[in-house]
Parts: sequence; C-alpha cells; structure tokens
Amino acid sequence: MCDYLSLAAPGVQKLKPYVPGKPIEELERELGIANIIKLASNENPLGPSPKGLQAAQAALDEVNLYPDGSGYALKQALSAKHGVTPEQITLGNGSNDVLVLLAEAFLTPAHNAVYSQYCFAVYPLAVQAVGAVHKQVPALGWDSDSPLGNDLEAMREAIDENTRLVFIANPNNPTGSYLHTEALRQFVASVPKEVIVVIDEAYLEYAPPDKRTDASGWLDDFPNLVVTRTFSKAYGLAGLRVGYALSNPEIANVLNRIRQPFNVNSPALAAARAALDDSEFLQRAYRQNQQGMAILENTCQQLGLRYVPSTANFLLVDFQQDAQPIFDRLLRAGIITRPVANYGLPECLRITIGTEEQMQRLDSTLRAVLNA
Ligand SMILES: *Cc1c(COP(=O)(O)O)cnc(C)c1O
Repeated sequence: MCDYLSLAAPGVQKLKPYVPGKPIEELERELGIANIIKLASNENPLGPSPKGLQAAQAALDEVNLYPDGSGYALKQALSAKHGVTPEQITLGNGSNDVLVLLAEAFLTPAHNAVYSQYCFAVYPLAVQAVGAVHKQVPALGWDSDSPLGNDLEAMREAIDENTRLVFIANPNNPTGSYLHTEALRQFVASVPKEVIVVIDEAYLEYAPPDKRTDASGWLDDFPNLVVTRTFSKAYGLAGLRVGYALSNPEIANVLNRIRQPFNVNSPALAAARAALDDSEFLQRAYRQNQQGMAILENTCQQLGLRYVPSTANFLLVDFQQDAQPIFDRLLRAGIITRPVANYGLPECLRITIGTEEQMQRLDSTLRAVLNA
C-alpha cells in the first residue's frame, strides 16, 4: 500500500470530512426501534412541496436525456421572482455547490477567505480544499444582541489585501443567530469592491417579516455581493439538491466557467421550478415552523435551558454540561438531534423544528432525560 493521503493536495490532506445528521435507517438498524424522528438536518417535516414532487415525478420519464444545462425555465422563473436578469443567476447542485464554485473560482493559496467562528461547516471545507488561507473571526458572546453571531466589526478588520471572499450565513447555521438589515448592509457597503461578500440565505423563508433581512434587493448597489438561496429547507427538496446564487453577471460568468455543464439534474430543475409557485406550501411550512418553534422555546424556558433566538427552522440549545450523553439518551428514545461539538459547542445540541406532535414528544422526552 501507498500512503495516498500524503499524495493528496495539501489543502485536502488537512480537511476534516463533513459530519451529516444521523440517518433514520441507521438508527433503526442499530437499536431495532421504530417511530424514530429526525430533528438533525433542518429538513422540512411537512415533506416536499406537493407541486415540486409532482413535477419531479413527471420529469423522471425523460431521464434518458441530459438536463437543460442552462436551466432556462428555472432561471426565467427566478429572474421574475427576484427582479434580476437570468445572467445574474448561477444554479447549483444544492447551494453547497455554488459555495464551492465561489471558492474554486476566486481563491488560491495566496488568498484568504473570512468567516465567523461557529459558521456553516461547508465554508471552511470549500476554502481549505483549494488550499487557501482561512481567517476565522471569533464570534460574538452569548450576551450580545446577536448571541454567538457574526462580529461584523471584527470581520471587517480581518479583511486585508489578500482577502477575496467573505462568507456570512444569515441566519447562521448551527447557531440560528441573525443580523439586522442595517448592520449587514453597512458591512457590505464598507467592504472593498475586490472582496466578494457571500450572504447565504438558506433559511430566509422561515424568518418572520419583521426579522427578515433579504439582501437580494441590494445587488444593484453592490457589484461584489453574492446572495445564495436553496430549495432544501422551506421548499422541502433537500434530497433533489437545488440551490442558486444571485450576483452581478460578471461573477456569474466566472462561476459558469467552472460549473459542471449538467450540475443540476432534470427532476430537480422541474421540481424547483414548480415549487416556486407553491406559495400555499411555503406558507404552511412557515406557520408550522412558528408553532413548533414556540413549543421548543417554551420547553427550554421551563427547563431553564438557554438558547440562541433563531429565525431559522432550528434552535441551538445550551445544556451547560457535556451534551453528548443527552444526545445519546434522546437517540435511545428515538429522537435524533445534532451534536455540535465539532463546531466548538460541546455543551449544545442543534434541534430542528418538527411538527407540533414531534415537538410535544421532544418536550416530554427531554424532561425525562434531564430528570433521570
Ligand atoms: C442547509 C444549508 C444550506 C443549504 O445547502 P444545500 O446544499 O442547498 O442543501 C446552505 N447554507 C446553510 C447555512 C445551510 O444551513
């Protein structure tokens, strides 16, 4: 045998692989129990958008053909939705794909990317894979007005002449922390035009209107702004993998050079196009999330657990003790949550908002687990 790891590109050698939420089937195999609920990957508990599902099923009849590599129909619909031209849109195999394209296109080992402590795990993965330097800026504290959130002032200071990208998820995963419109807009305005600011709005549809910061409307003001969105969360299409970036046409043109020609498959294109018209489903997902969030917040308050106020479809809960045994006990009761020790938060669990019934079951199980 040969040490193939030592042959890998230097950036790749140092990577720690992404740890996904535990699949339901795996827990079934391990424990031989039924009625498992997964609150680990911020998936939509209502299932897929029915319109999206129907369109995906119809598209299966033609999977002998390559998908439309230009994504014409979906881009037309997105361009109407966002008031941008199709040339400003880059489609991805999930928004994860677009994030990786940005790193591949704009970073080299001589350049760096800036992002916050506790940021989405894909940012460091994408940046390190291309061998670029990453500048992780300490997050704000629990008692700030954006607990564990992006410290925009410190991030602004971390930007130097070799910075090409800044990644900000708003709201952030795994913390749920969110930034207010004015603060974020001022930050983007303060960044030199050579530095591309990526605002990842994967959870935007879940934010109540008064707490929703939608940066997609700022594209005309900031040529260096990229906004990413996904069909994986509120639209319920995580398994099909569709996301997109909005940017100025020049940035989109750069991404298009390295994008795989058929990076989004045809059932996914069809489903996303149809799901965009499924406002009824989107509203249902929003309301269900508000209800489930209220139940989980109430559970936390009654159990004296602090949490980061969240505008997403999950809550970061601080148990102020090693959270692994709590995770394990919840698992044995058939509830999969997400440990976040790998993010540097060993005393917290990230819990996805489920249906009302699922949140009630979590409530009673958590009480039993903590009183045991
Ligand atoms: C879930 C998530 C995404 C979406 O990823 P997809 O590849 O579109 O499924 C993007 N950013 C953040 C912060 C997320 O939590």
